[in-house]
Amino acid sequence: MSKKNNKIDFGFDFVDPKEKNILVSKIFDNVSKKYDLMNDILSFGLHRAWKQELINMLSPQPHQILADIAGGTGDLAKNFLNNGGGKADVIDININMIKHGINKKFRNIRYIVGNCENLPIKENTYDRVSIGFGLRNITYRQKALQEIYRILKPGGRLVCLEFSHIQNEVLQNLYEIWSFKFLPRIGSLVANNEYAYKYLAESIKMFPNQEKLSFMMTKANFSRVKYKNLTDGIVALHSGWKI
Ligand code: SAM
Repeated sequence: MSKKNNKIDFGFDFVDPKEKNILVSKIFDNVSKKYDLMNDILSFGLHRAWKQELINMLSPQPHQILADIAGGTGDLAKNFLNNGGGKADVIDININMIKHGINKKFRNIRYIVGNCENLPIKENTYDRVSIGFGLRNITYRQKALQEIYRILKPGGRLVCLEFSHIQNEVLQNLYEIWSFKFLPRIGSLVANNEYAYKYLAESIKMFPNQEKLSFMMTKANFSRVKYKNLTDGIVALHSGWKI
């Protein structure tokens, strides 16, 4: 979390923490309808491969229950079940994101509206927790990691997929042009929302790098914390265990 005079980062701006929640909610209310389509367009479909890597890392088993935190339209929960997992709860603060993801084919998914800084879940409930592209949007990230730790069973694992810091200078320069010049324009054309995709580009830039996020997970009590860069660090998977 970047802080300036008790204000908190919202893209490149610094706002009151309560205001950040409202601004983030508005963004996801507005993009929920086109969210899945935009993910495919903006990542050239790569988000599917990144999400599959997360699921592989979780190695789902039929007896396991997953909490997909900030799960939005529930891609990760659905993948978890399709890859052999038992049950999944999609937990998200935004009811519109949840509504657009509900698919009756998946009978073993429950949808829960909740804030991951204060989860409406008993401790030691889940075998696995995923959070995909969620942490960046959360106001109090350290608190959210502590909550995730609380709801995991002992022996449980968290895997977090998030945009990160690119390890290759040429790719970094190209990515910068893509993020700041093209992304908001495509957002405007396809989702009629330039602002949301400008926020996306800025929030990626402001998000802690691989080492800092590892440190935050360790601070939240996770053990054996490690990360794996995907596509040269455009995104990273961070893993930690509750032991
Ligand atoms: N996990 C999905 C995916 O990978 O496609 C959706 C990610 S979407 C970029 C971010 C999600 O985080 C949104 O659905 C938003 O509503 C949710 N979110 C933001 N703040 C939250 C909070 N404090 N608690 C729970 N969910 C939150």
